[in-house]
Amino acid sequence: MAEFIPLVDARARNRSEAMAAFVRAAAQAPLTTGPLADTRGRPLSDLRISVTDRCNFRCVYCMPKDVFGRDYPFLPHESLLTFEELTRVARVFIELGVRKIRLTGGEPLLRRKIERLIEMLRAISDDVDITLTTNGALLARKARDLHAAGLSRITVSLDSLDDATFRAMNDVDFPVARVLEGIDAAAAAGLSPIKVNMVVKRGMNEESIVPMARHFRGTGHIVRFIEYMDVGATNGWRMDDVVPASEIVSRIDAQMPLAPADPHYRGEVAERWAYRDGSGEVGVIASVTQAFCRDCTRARLSTEGKLFTCLFADEGYDLRDLVRGAAADDEALRRVVSAIWRQRADRYSEVRTANTARTPKVEMSYIGG
Ligand code: SAM
Repeated sequence: MAEFIPLVDARARNRSEAMAAFVRAAAQAPLTTGPLADTRGRPLSDLRISVTDRCNFRCVYCMPKDVFGRDYPFLPHESLLTFEELTRVARVFIELGVRKIRLTGGEPLLRRKIERLIEMLRAISDDVDITLTTNGALLARKARDLHAAGLSRITVSLDSLDDATFRAMNDVDFPVARVLEGIDAAAAAGLSPIKVNMVVKRGMNEESIVPMARHFRGTGHIVRFIEYMDVGATNGWRMDDVVPASEIVSRIDAQMPLAPADPHYRGEVAERWAYRDGSGEVGVIASVTQAFCRDCTRARLSTEGKLFTCLFADEGYDLRDLVRGAAADDEALRRVVSAIWRQRADRYSEVRTANTARTPKVEMSYIGG
């Protein structure tokens, strides 16, 4: 029997009240048994957790300084889910089928004692892939502890190997060399295969595509080129700023011939391309030009415990209230997450237009990239 809890509540004055009413009703409703899938048949297999909304970079396309300046009201510490609360929520997601947890943010390595959280998550299960996305600034000093705590792998964001371009993009004058040191430390610690994410923005860093591919070719690290997306409301996104994945592939292929490679699993976000000479592979994440909503199996937990079922959503379901409410046990949490997932219908990237790009959406630093 499916759970039919109306998302529209006649008494609610707005969407967030309706979502809160949904959570309350779902906490009481019987748990549906059988495989968990949303309205489009997509299972719930990945959970991204934003552990902080703060970052030590001010990447111009993500946390521009004029918005995220000194006076920006970042969340107070007590708003954040504690490690115990995060572990409890993660356990419920794992029980419901999640097999991959990614810690992100903001900059996750800024969250104090993040290694402890990784240990606590690892204690839930040995089978879950626990990974983390970082800008790499603090990685050289933390890589060994992260690995010892049970982190499976790591993804490092790096938008250019050209120092002037990179410093301009991170907007805090951070040098490329220190990120490369972080990547080396992560490899030495055993956090492989390392993925290196490069967001490509027209007129900003497309000349860095080929040098980036060339630098990491043959190292075992996998560079993934990401189309610039219209996340959040502060980056002034325009379709003209997007360098399509097809162009990224052609630029690399012209210098270092590529052949398409099969995906590792359903829902893999990156399209894989292998060097024809066997020296490794690159990936392209074409979330704008080739939407992959059809296979999206990801849920996102914001820094303060709201559950978002799409990166481009404007509102999330508040799980923190539930977790902190004296009455809610894990069974109630399971019922709520299951009911939310079963009525999920999101497919923003498939219906994106120049107009939807201007609709309100939460910031990536808050929801987690
Ligand atoms: N601070 C960490 C980092 O730099 O990797 C984790 C959070 S960051 C929001 C996660 C990833 O999202 C980074 O690789 C970043 O480049 C990417 N990102 C941020 N804004 C983006 C946008 N508008 N389009 C595409 N990728 C974006």
